[in-house]
Formats: sequence, C-alpha cells, structure tokens
Amino acid sequence: MSFVAETSLESLPEHVAVAEKRLVNADLVAVNQLMPLKYHWAWEHYLNGCRNHWLPQEVPMDRDIALWKRPDGLTDDERTVVLRNLGFFSTAESLVGNNLVLGVFKHVTNPECRQYLLRQAFEEAIHTHAFHYIVESLGLDGHEVFTMHRTVNTIHDKDGFTMRLTEALCDPDFRTDSVGGIQKFVENLVGYYVVMEGIFFYSGFAMMLGFHRQNRMTGVGEQFQYILRDESTHLNFGVDLINGIRAENPEIWTPDLRDRLNAMIDEAVEREIAYAVDCLPRGVLGLNAEHFRDYVRHIADRRLERIGLPARYAAPNPFPWMSETIDLKKEKNFFETRVTEYQSGGALSWD
Ligand code: FE
Ligand code: MN
Repeated sequence: MSFVAETSLESLPEHVAVAEKRLVNADLVAVNQLMPLKYHWAWEHYLNGCRNHWLPQEVPMDRDIALWKRPDGLTDDERTVVLRNLGFFSTAESLVGNNLVLGVFKHVTNPECRQYLLRQAFEEAIHTHAFHYIVESLGLDGHEVFTMHRTVNTIHDKDGFTMRLTEALCDPDFRTDSVGGIQKFVENLVGYYVVMEGIFFYSGFAMMLGFHRQNRMTGVGEQFQYILRDESTHLNFGVDLINGIRAENPEIWTPDLRDRLNAMIDEAVEREIAYAVDCLPRGVLGLNAEHFRDYVRHIADRRLERIGLPARYAAPNPFPWMSETIDLKKEKNFFETRVTEYQSGGALSWD
C-alpha cells in the first residue's frame, strides 16, 4: 500500500515536473499539471486579462446612435472609415478565435499557457460580440458588415493571408516534433500575434480612436479602447510565446526562417497600407493615408525588434497618442471607473 503511494509521489517530484514543462512537445503529464508554474509570464498575462474584464453592453451607445442617424452627422468618407473597420474586425476576431482553438491550443503543451489561451479565446468571443452590438445599436445591415471579407478586396486580402496560416496547422498530419514543424508553428504565431493582432489591428484602432479623440462615435471608440487593451496583452503573450519557443528550440532560428518571417511582415505591411488607402482615399479627421503608411511601418519595426529581428522601415510615428491609450497608468485609471461599474451592475445575488 505505502509502496504504491511512495512510487506515485516519487514519480512526480517538483523539480522534474518543472524541468519537463515545455512550450511545445511536452509529455502528457506536463501538459496537465499547472503547478508548480514554470512560465510565470503566461500566468501574469492570464491575470492581466482577468483584470480587464468587460462586456460590450456596458458601453452606452446613445450619442453614437444620434450622430449616426443625423443625415449631416458624419460625412460619407467618415461613414466609410467606420464601416470598413467594422467590416474588417467583425471577421478578423473570429479568425483569431478559430486559429487559437483549432490550431494553436492543441500544439501548445503547457498548462499555464493554455490557461491564458482559454482566457484569450473568451476575449475574442467578447470582441466579436462587440461588433454584433455596434451593428445592432446603429441599425446597420449585419449581413453587409459581416461579409465585407468577401466584398471588399483589401479586407479579403488580409483575411486570406492569415487563413492560409491556419490551414497548415489544421492539417491532421501537422506535427511539431521536427525542426520544420516547430518553424511552421512559429510562422503561424508570428502571422497571428504579430501581424494580425500586432499590425493589422492597430491601424484600425488608430482610425477609430481618431474619431474618439474628436468626441465623435465615442461609444464605438470606447469599445475599441477596451479591445485595444485586450489586444495589447494578446500581443505581449504572443511575443513571449514565440521568444520562449525559440529559446527552447534554438535550432529553428535558421536564416531561412528569418527570411520567411521578414517576407511575411513585408507582405503584411503592404497589405495594411493598401487597406488604409482604401479606408481613407481622401483623408478624414486629420488622418490621411500617408500617416498610415508611416504608422504601419513604425509599428512593424517595433514588432520585429520584439521577436529578435532587426527593424527595417525606420518610419516616424505620426500617432504618438496611440501609445498613451495603451499606457499602463491610464489603463489603471480607465478600469478603475469601468470595472467598478461592471462589478456593481453585474453583482450576483445569492438569495
Ligand atoms: Fe480580439
Ligand atoms: Mn486578440
């Protein structure tokens, strides 16, 4: 009797469990045992996500509805910017969620990272929910907004680019137990966390926060602020995951992989600039396509540096106020007002 107990205890001593934890290609025990934690950054990102808890319906939309319905409330160009952004994000959030659940989750073999991925998947559902809520509030044509990935070329091109990355991981024969397999997996992570959430999302955020800064479409702007704060944590987690996999598998970081990642980011930058030109052919609210050309290149350089690749565009930052929106101190103030409302409004009754 004691033999069985001692054997099972000895088979799981703490230092072995921690050492056996791997971001990819861990054995079955290490996949399921959360504690002791090895990747504290993953747990921190999970806690940060929980601190940012919010729901779309908490944001009042009355002023947006009044402005949107007034015939002279917005110019045609301003309406185009709003609609193109809703059109892109409404599908993009689902693509990210599907890639996480169907592609990434299976191959990340660490419980603290999976805990974060479960949290992130829920947040992606909240983001899609936000676009449903905005469409309903403003009385827009939901079919039109949610099918722009098929009717607007520049959205179609961005979505097609990321969908191809998911396809490789969804192949039932896809495995990560080879250098080529891990490289393919890292390409997917760079494609989603760095390109989709870290580049494709940010010019859309800048456009919608541009409205908010001018005190217009403030409800939509506030939804985008919440989403931006979630996305900045998604990006931080993704960067830590990519760099962590590389540190555990240094053999994957070949010149060929680096070339492929650089080419991917080059292509993404071009697609994003095309999308910005499409949204802002004549410029609105003091924002024009030239600003976005610089902005996309500027943030692409910042993302490259974070995954250990040299910056290559050297563009100025035309929107320094964007980083203020993500800045931690303001984030705290922002959530001090909102989270309190959420907790009182959504308080559970046990009677
Ligand atoms: Fe999202
Ligand atoms: Mn996300």
